[in-house]
Parts: sequence; structure tokens; C-alpha cells
Amino acid sequence: MIIVMKVGSPQEEIDRISEEMCGRGLTPEKIVGKHKVVIGLVGETAALDPLQMQEISPWIEQVLRVEQPFKRASLEFRHGQPTDVAIETPDRAVHIGQNHPVVTIAGPCSVENEEMIVATAQYVKASGAKLLRGGAYKPRTSPYAFQGHGESALGLLAAAREATGLGIITEVMDAEDLDKIVEVADVVQVGARNMQNFSLLKKVGAQPKPVFLKRGMSATIEEWLMAAEYIMAAGNPNVILCERGIRTFDRQYARNTLDLSVIPVLRSLTHLPIAIDPSHGTGRAEYVPSMAMAAIAAGADSLMIEVHPNPAKALSDGPQSLTPQRFDRLMQELSVIGRAVGRWQPPVVALT
Ligand code: PEP
Ligand code: MN
Repeated sequence: MIIVMKVGSPQEEIDRISEEMCGRGLTPEKIVGKHKVVIGLVGETAALDPLQMQEISPWIEQVLRVEQPFKRASLEFRHGQPTDVAIETPDRAVHIGQNHPVVTIAGPCSVENEEMIVATAQYVKASGAKLLRGGAYKPRTSPYAFQGHGESALGLLAAAREATGLGIITEVMDAEDLDKIVEVADVVQVGARNMQNFSLLKKVGAQPKPVFLKRGMSATIEEWLMAAEYIMAAGNPNVILCERGIRTFDRQYARNTLDLSVIPVLRSLTHLPIAIDPSHGTGRAEYVPSMAMAAIAAGADSLMIEVHPNPAKALSDGPQSLTPQRFDRLMQELSVIGRAVGRWQPPVVALT
């Protein structure tokens, strides 16, 4: 249920209503929009009558029920106000959300050594990426495949962060590693294979860094939004949803089927920012540019793209990784689409 306050409602009145709701055993959450304040209510609201609730204060404009099972993640809960996830990076605050330019996240599948991660960070930054990705802990299908360098790779990510000022995003697979990851990462990734690891979702929800939640490879949209709800219910409202391809019947030519139709669907259901990962989505470097362009045209808020200085030698996901040169060209191609849809940051012009 949500309480929509009238424009100009006094703060004391908003506080008074929130306190009254606490007294009724509900959890109120204040959402400050451009013009109005909305008080989202979570808890046992089934027996409450919205019309009666409206009588609580003359400053209440409307009381509405949230019909979706995902309450905090639903568009209704914020009365249509999009969430802006602010990420503090050494360089600047990076904002991911509908009212901001598209944010590109780029970097290798896994962190291999200091030289490669620092060099990749420098390349992708020069091309316009705002965040560096790189796996320290890797979820691999085979136990004999490279598993990531683990804790030592976190140190290498910290070095790349220091060297370039880029923010870092890296995956947590095991809750035991979360504290160490949070020390280095500006955004914590929950991978496709852990999307319904509910105990992990609760733990990333209880730490302060934004969470990049990948869609499970056979997850429905509702299951995905309920996973986001776990994180939000645990106290963390900063969730970015990332489509990374789903399993379908045909795996002959592409690794997954990138479901770009989630962009308009999610827009109608949630206020959370939407990212697209065309690298895992297709599994083939040659298909990544088209899908990245399509994602921006369809309204994505962020892209995650795998880039490796020498894809043929990559320890994981080489076939889907772009070279820095191809990534640079792609960013120029993307700028055309990005500008056409009014979502591209003008390049920073160096002062002479
Ligand atoms: C990754 O981003 O490297 C990764 C493992 O992604 P996903 O969870 O989407 O497979
Ligand atoms: Mn990968």
C-alpha cells in the first residue's frame, strides 16, 4: 500500500503519519519524488481500507494498494518515480537510472594479473566506460576450469581502481567473501547462478553497496523481481537488474537468447534501473555490438560488456570478449544511438 501526499505537505505531517503506521505494525518508507512525497507501506495491509486511511490527514491525496507480490520493487511502490542508483567511485558519482545517460561497464570476465587488469581499465576508461568489471571469484560449469584468483584478485582490482579512478564491480559467490569484496567493490554483483540464493540475497541486502542482480538463466521476470525484493526487504534499495540471456531451445549458434523484450516489460513493472549484458547474452564477440546498440535503442540504462586485451588467451569467456580496439569503436557507434535517444554523456573535452 502507498500513501501519496499532496504537493507541499509539511514534514511534521509526513512524520506523524509514518509514526502512526509504525504503531499499526507497518513499515513505512518515505520516497521523495520531484514534486510529491510517497509513503510506501510494507506489512499486513490486507484488512486496511484505503478510503478510511485517507481520513487520517487532510494532506493525504490518495491511498493505493500495491497489487504485485514484489512490493518495494514495484513501480506502484514509488508511484512511478524511477530509482537512481548513485555509485561513489574515486573519480565521481556515477548515476544509473532512467534520468541519466547510459552507463557502460566494461572489463574482462576474470581478473588474470595486475598488468592485464590495469591495462584493460585504462583502455575502457579512455573509451568512455564508467565502471570496471572483473571477476575474482568465478562461477564455472566445470570444477577443473579456472576458478578465479579469489582474494588476491581483489587486491588487483583495488590497484586498477587506484590507477584509473574507475569504480569496481565484481561478483560475490559465497557470503563468506562478502566483507572482503565490499571493501574493494563499488557495486556487488550477484550472478545468474545465484539469483535465487536467498540467503546470499539477504546478506547483500544488509550491506550498503549497490547490487547488480543478474537474471537467472531460466528465471521468470516475476522470480527475478522477487529476488530484487529480497535484497530491498533486507534494507538495500539500490538494485540494478541485469538481463544476461536466458536458456532457450537453440544453443547452436548463440550461448543464450538475450531477452531484450524485458526492457519495456520491466519498465511497466518496476522503478529499478535496467542493465543489459550482450556478452553473456550471445556468447560471441561478433554479435555483441548489434545487441548493445539494440539495448540502448530499447531504453537500457546501462550496458555490461566483456573486454580483454587478448581474447584468444583469456582464461575465461574469450570468445565473447571484445578487444579494446573493438570496444572503442563500439563506444563510438553507441554514441550515435545514445544521442538519438537522448541518453549519451557528451565526451569530456580536455582543456588545453
Ligand atoms: C559474469 O558476469 O562474469 C558472469 C559469470 O555472469 P552470469 O552470472 O551472467 O553468467
Ligand atoms: Mn564472463
